[in-house]
Amino acid sequence: MIISIILSFTAGACAGSFLNAAAMRTVADRKWWGSERSVCDSCGHVLCSLDLAPVFSYLLLRGKCRYCKASIKPRHFAAEVAVGALSAALFWGWGFSAAFGMSILVAWFSLFNSLTDFENGYIYDAWAIAPGVIGLLMRIPAGTQAVISGLLGAALGFGVIALIILVSRGGMGWGDAMLMAGIGGAVGWKFCAFGLYAGFLIGGVTVVPLIFIKKLKRKDAVPLGPFLAAGSTVILFTGSALVSRFGEFIGSDPGWPW
Ligand SMILES: [Zn+2]
Repeated sequence: MIISIILSFTAGACAGSFLNAAAMRTVADRKWWGSERSVCDSCGHVLCSLDLAPVFSYLLLRGKCRYCKASIKPRHFAAEVAVGALSAALFWGWGFSAAFGMSILVAWFSLFNSLTDFENGYIYDAWAIAPGVIGLLMRIPAGTQAVISGLLGAALGFGVIALIILVSRGGMGWGDAMLMAGIGGAVGWKFCAFGLYAGFLIGGVTVVPLIFIKKLKRKDAVPLGPFLAAGSTVILFTGSALVSRFGEFIGSDPGWPW
């Protein structure tokens, strides 16, 4: 068990490193496959595998580039530690199971979409919808009910955000609708419903105080994708308990794979 958790942390840290780099290259409209090597943000020196070892290289180099001594952006380190810890926690919660696979799929893609949304306020349709497509394919062997739950989840995630866009005329974008469609297709409609609720809740408790202390103006554009992604990620841990708690309204079976 301990070894599996360490392995999932390491795999998660590598994924965090990769997702962070891929998101930055996507935002900069650069290819992130093929032969382009990772370079230092400051001096442009090509980084070797020792420099790229997730988490450890940042600690060993004390957050500075080995070649030019410029500070490495802490966000690289933060993404590695966050995704590593998240992946280990999901393994702790679900063990080696379909639910763990589905959780990793949603958590990793959610981070990627949050990063691009933070960086330039844009969620890329293909990356938003990808976990839904992969999730629905994973659902096929589990039977018709599992696929229907995924399709309903995608429809619910897209529908709720689309309704808000049409009613409020602004604030949320179609990227947010695609994001929740992708998450809903993977997690199913019950988890998606709780994910939406948790996302709005996290967004509200974050944004309202910022407006109150005047760090934000009411008209400022706030990327909402990261809050929705965070809410859905929380539900990966708490969804089953919530479904059985509120099962009298929506049925107490959380549905495959949970
Ligand atoms: Zn450098």
